[in-house]
Amino acid sequence: MKRSGSISQENYLKAIFKLQHEHGIASNQAIAEKLAATPAAVTGMLHKLTELDWIDYTAYQGAKLTAKGRQIATSTIRKHRLWEVFLVEKLQFKWDAVHQWAEELEHIGDANFTNRLDAFLGCPSTDPHGDPIPDSNGDWKGNERVFSADALTRKQKFTVRGVSNSASDFLRHLDALKIQLGKHFEVMDFFPFDGSWEWKDDQGIPIRVSREVAGQLLVEAIPTNRGNENQES
Ligand SMILES: [Zn+2]
Repeated sequence: MKRSGSISQENYLKAIFKLQHEHGIASNQAIAEKLAATPAAVTGMLHKLTELDWIDYTAYQGAKLTAKGRQIATSTIRKHRLWEVFLVEKLQFKWDAVHQWAEELEHIGDANFTNRLDAFLGCPSTDPHGDPIPDSNGDWKGNERVFSADALTRKQKFTVRGVSNSASDFLRHLDALKIQLGKHFEVMDFFPFDGSWEWKDDQGIPIRVSREVAGQLLVEAIPTNRGNENQES
């Protein structure tokens, strides 16, 4: 079995999936912005996707995925995130350099091909940016303990779990600060004047973190009574 839709159709389904997740429905305007497409092109594609029974579309409101559309969208996202893991872990790409390749690789192969890639990689649960990877049924377990770093409190110890912005320039900035997924920090101080933070890593090295950076980092608190400090889930 080849892929279900054209590259363009799969990109629309992916965009609708993400917008529907955030807003309950994907409006024409939001789709146009996300895909840098004209309103006329979006309307044309939405009619096509409706004919294929991949979306339910209501004029002036927007689109929602059908079960079939959701399955294609999540399988495209699954491939995208698995390829990002492959590129970082097996080809030693940096985490800021994989998204564009994954945008192309997500459109090749069938479910069997993808499942083999998944098995080869050891069935990872998250991509290099901390985003969850859907399983072959399109389901995934999000980490509900993850929250934005700007909600941390003083003396809190935490683990960096993901980024809510995976733009290359932001990821390179995190590299410069030596902030990586899985790394532990402790909050030393917060400066209300400019919303910046001082954190200390587990080597005791302090870093200054701006409000902008903290607002785009996802973290998980480490319980203070934690028994085994080396246990990494
Ligand atoms: Zn990506």
